Amino acid sequence: MSSNSAGRLEHFINGKLVPSTSGREQDVFNPATGEVSARVALGSVEEVNAAVAAASAAAPAWGETAPLKRARILSRFKELIEKHHDDLAAAITREHGKVFSDAKGEVTRGLEIVEFACGAPTLLKTEFTDNIGGGIDNWQMRQPLGVTAGITPFNFPVMVPLWMAPMALATGNTFILKPSERDPSPSLMMADLFRKAGLPDGVFNVVQGDKVAVDALLHHPDVKAISFVGSTPIAEYIYTEGARRKGAYPLRVQALGGAKNHLVVMPDADLDQAVDALIGAAYGSAGERCMAISVAVAVGNVADRLVEALVPRAKALKVKNGMESDAEMGPVVTGAHREKIFGYIEDGVRSGAKLLVDGRGLKVPGHENGFFMGGTLFDNVTPDMNIYKEEIFGPVLCVVRVPDLGAAINLINAHEFANGVALFTSDGNTAREFSRRIEVGMVGVNVPIPVPMAWHSFGGWKRSLFGDTAIYGAEGVRFYTRYKSIMQRWPASIDKGAEFAMPVSK
Ligand code: NAD
Repeated sequence: MSSNSAGRLEHFINGKLVPSTSGREQDVFNPATGEVSARVALGSVEEVNAAVAAASAAAPAWGETAPLKRARILSRFKELIEKHHDDLAAAITREHGKVFSDAKGEVTRGLEIVEFACGAPTLLKTEFTDNIGGGIDNWQMRQPLGVTAGITPFNFPVMVPLWMAPMALATGNTFILKPSERDPSPSLMMADLFRKAGLPDGVFNVVQGDKVAVDALLHHPDVKAISFVGSTPIAEYIYTEGARRKGAYPLRVQALGGAKNHLVVMPDADLDQAVDALIGAAYGSAGERCMAISVAVAVGNVADRLVEALVPRAKALKVKNGMESDAEMGPVVTGAHREKIFGYIEDGVRSGAKLLVDGRGLKVPGHENGFFMGGTLFDNVTPDMNIYKEEIFGPVLCVVRVPDLGAAINLINAHEFANGVALFTSDGNTAREFSRRIEVGMVGVNVPIPVPMAWHSFGGWKRSLFGDTAIYGAEGVRFYTRYKSIMQRWPASIDKGAEFAMPVSK
């Protein structure tokens, strides 16, 4: 049910597909062939309003539904995702381009959040203090916010929506997803699975679209919270606009932004392991991961050996249509995005970095119109270069040489982005020192992509996350609920007479 007969991807509002009447739409590409695979509707303000109305109408009953009942629906949703694991992964590969095994991994990481959210009764359990004094008991509640929304990026069209929706639903909220317009099909597939799992109409909705839909969600007074994941300029925009919203109920925003993740290789690291890690983390998913490694920081005398080992590996990458079983890297998402990456490669050459492997000009036989490029490797990159400062979001790895661990830490701590970082070493003290001093949200020690598990929480620091809470895990429960404290006593324990002094425990 992902699209209508014209191959147009529509909205999903109040339990059914709703054809858009906005008169605006755009192409969705298959990046492996360069062909248009569908058109996606771009929603209007009125269509967003209709989704908010449906989500508002559904909110009271869903909020009153017992957490265990909500969890049972999520549990059925989990089984349906398992059943359709390959279908979802194939849809990701078709519209995003990443290789099928990677797309399956993405679905699994999303599924893990659903599994976590199935613990809703435990997640919402709170603390109780019996008899704080004078026969009074004190406890707390975490209540749902009402209508919540999620705005998601193209690079994880299943996993990132599942970072948000299961947490919002488990905690008793209704949810509107505004997926990326570049790969919108999986959002409708998930909507269908939610419906089949027995989720009441209006609890999960999808509005396709662009800035128009995002702004309409941002300014709608009935939307109580927005989770955003995407690039830093838009994250900052969502966060500041959200903070400016007037009214009795401030908008709660968590906005996860872009990244420039470093992997530090110490001279005592196992070089083969470090090279494997770099090749996988820099070129996997064509570098289009927010936790991709885009900078290798070579410490001391390891630099020449590291670069020598990376060059043949970057050249030997199997770049193919992601559905081929031995593909290691697929195309990038669109032709326009590839042009942007090529622009960065030219800029790097102009600014004096040494281009050791050039991925431009790669052709994949039988897929000449696909958005392919090869793995690209720069050496002698310095912190003043744009290819170091900015997020390229493609298969481009930059090697920066530093003399020692202190210089590596200072380099990384001076960067505006602080999503993930990794250190390869065989020394425990080095690892401990690094983990404590580094100003980055997610740290891997001999782990290149330290994406926290569902029951921890995901989030960067600095300009990689705007807002106070990380996403999913315990932080997700806090984000999607309002804290309330209750004190209660019963007449038998109430003393006679008014009290004028500040109440204290008796
Ligand atoms: P993007 O910022 O272009 O788009 C993200 C969402 O914002 C999309 O739904 C899009 O429709 C919407 N959007 C785009 N322009 C807008 C505008 N002007 N006003 C309002 N909304 C707008 O990001 P992308 O290219 O889809 O995704 C890649 C980016 O996302 C990278 O920067 C990557 O690092 C980041 N990302 C971050 C994380 C994280 O956890 N920190 C995870 C995944 C991706």
